[in-house]
Parts: sequence; C-alpha cells; structure tokens
Amino acid sequence: QAKKQSMEAVITYTPDMEEQMAWRLGIIRQLRQDFEQRKLEVWFQPQLDLKTLDIIGCEALLRWPSGNGQYISPAIFVPMAEDAGLIVEIGQWVLEQACMQQKRLEQLGFAISIAVNVSVPQFKVKGYAQRVKDTLINYQVEPKFIELEVTESVVMDELSNVITMLQELKDFGIEIAIDDFGTGFSSLSYLQRLPLDRLKIDRAFIKDLPGEDCEAIAALIISLGARLGLKTIAEGVETQAQADYLSELGCDEVQGFMYAKPMPEKELITYLQAKH
Ligand code: C2E
Ligand code: MG
Ligand code: MG
Ligand code: MG
Repeated sequence: QAKKQSMEAVITYTPDMEEQMAWRLGIIRQLRQDFEQRKLEVWFQPQLDLKTLDIIGCEALLRWPSGNGQYISPAIFVPMAEDAGLIVEIGQWVLEQACMQQKRLEQLGFAISIAVNVSVPQFKVKGYAQRVKDTLINYQVEPKFIELEVTESVVMDELSNVITMLQELKDFGIEIAIDDFGTGFSSLSYLQRLPLDRLKIDRAFIKDLPGEDCEAIAALIISLGARLGLKTIAEGVETQAQADYLSELGCDEVQGFMYAKPMPEKELITYLQAKH
C-alpha cells in the first residue's frame, strides 16, 4: 500500500508542484523573518452606522510591506500563515496592536471598537480564550471595545469546543461577529448556538447591488439578522446606490471604500479628527 502511494506520488509529481512548494516555503520563511523584525503593519478600516454615518468602529487588517510602497495581500499570505501555524503568533500580535490602538483612540476621545479577525488554528490553542482575556486586562482595554470576527469555518471545526470558548469571551464582554456571512457551507443551525452580536454580509452579495440575485440574498441576511436580534454590517460598500439599497433594507452598519479604505494607525487618527 505504502509502495503504491509512493508510486502514485511519483507519477502525479510535476515540476510545477516543486516550484510551488519552494515558492510557498520561501514566502513563509520571509514572512516569519519580517514578523520577527517587526515589519508587519496593522491598518484600520472605519465602520459606520448607516443611519447617522457616525464611526462606530474599525476593522484591524494585516499589511505586509514588500518594499517600494507595495504590499502583499493578506488574502494570499494569511492562508499560508495558517497552514504554517504562524498565524497563532501573528494573530496575538494583531490583537495587541488593536488593544494599543483602542487605548490611544480612547485617550483622544474616540470611544470606538476594534474588530480583529481570528483564524481556525488560533482556536485550537489550549487556553485561547483565557489568553485573549489576559491580553485585554494587560492593556486595560474594556472588552466591549474589542470584537472578534470569525468565519463559518471556525464554527465547522470542533463545534462544541469553539462554542465554549466563544461563550467565555462573550461572557467577558467581547463582541463576536460572523465574517463573510453567506459564503460558507455550514448549516444555519449554528446561529442559534453561538453567542453572536453581528453578521457581516460578504462583499460578494454587495458587489452587484442593486441587482436581482444580490438583492434577494442581502435582503434575506438582513432580515435574518433582525429576526435573530443581531446587528448586520455590509462589507465592501463602494457606491451610493449600494448604500441606499442597504439602507432601504434596514442594514445597520457599513464598511467599504466609499466611506474609507484601510489606513495606517496615524492616518486613522487624522481621519477621525477631521470627521469630528
Ligand atoms: P475580511 O476579514 O473579510 O476583510 C475585509 C476585506 O475587504 C479587506 O481586505 C478589506 O480591505 C476589503 N474591503 C473593504 N472594503 C472594501 C471595498 O469597498 N471594496 C473592496 N474591493 N474591498 C474592500 P484585505 O485587507 O485584503 O484582507 C483580506 C482578508 O485577509 C480579510 O478578509 C481576512 O480574511 C484576512 N485578514 C486580514 N487581516 C487579518 C488578520 O489580522 N488575521 C486574520 N486571521 N486574517 C486577516
Ligand atoms: Mg474580517
Ligand atoms: Mg469579511
Ligand atoms: Mg471577505
């Protein structure tokens, strides 16, 4: 059997795969090195109340500078960091950056919350919830100012354990959002079992608004959120037409290039001060 498998491995092996593996390993090595040398950045994208257009929070988003003002997309390197287990350390660092930024903003008079993305491997570390709580205590951040964004993939993995951890965090006062809602393949029954605060409607359903299929899905998610007593936030809002339609549907909050792109921490402060 082992021989058969190794034969198959030889047969299906292509130089392309070797190149791809080497490329990935190179990226991971560089990422680890840049992370250790404190070269990664956390940027922040404002989130607004759709009715008042008040800034209610922002999402922390990783940025990896690749030199001469360019950045490697987290959509590419986060999945690799997840595979390599590196996301555990990086994710902890992002949380600490978010805590520091929250304190700075609060001291400047901006009491807004910061949402942090959390990956599946982070939940697999024993004591993850306690570590998050300890971090907030350490930075003296009020839990209500931190929100964790988890995707449906987190829920699909080791379900009972994740629920316990999310409940522990929620009891502590941290808010929980389901990110990219509507793009996973899990059953909706988890919505009843998770201690959620917010549904983030994926950009895929906002992109083509107003447009029949997207309208149906966006409307469904917004009314589902309302029925479950959850806030709904639309991500990737780029046009006034999209905003108008979301407003008509009763969506609570928005995040998108139309309002503000992700920006470095100092720029966020300038942005908030200008808006004030
Ligand atoms: P996400 O959590 O769904 O983040 C929203 C993404 O949508 C961000 O992409 C943001 O820049 C982008 N976006 C926001 N508004 C608009 C818009 O109006 N138009 C368009 N075209 N895009 C918009 P970004 O920063 O490239 O991040 C991609 C993904 O990488 C994130 O998706 C998240 O899954 C992951 N990621 C980023 N930072 C972290 C992190 O600190 N930890 C983890 N685990 N994942 C992260
Ligand atoms: Mg997110
Ligand atoms: Mg998202
Ligand atoms: Mg997304």
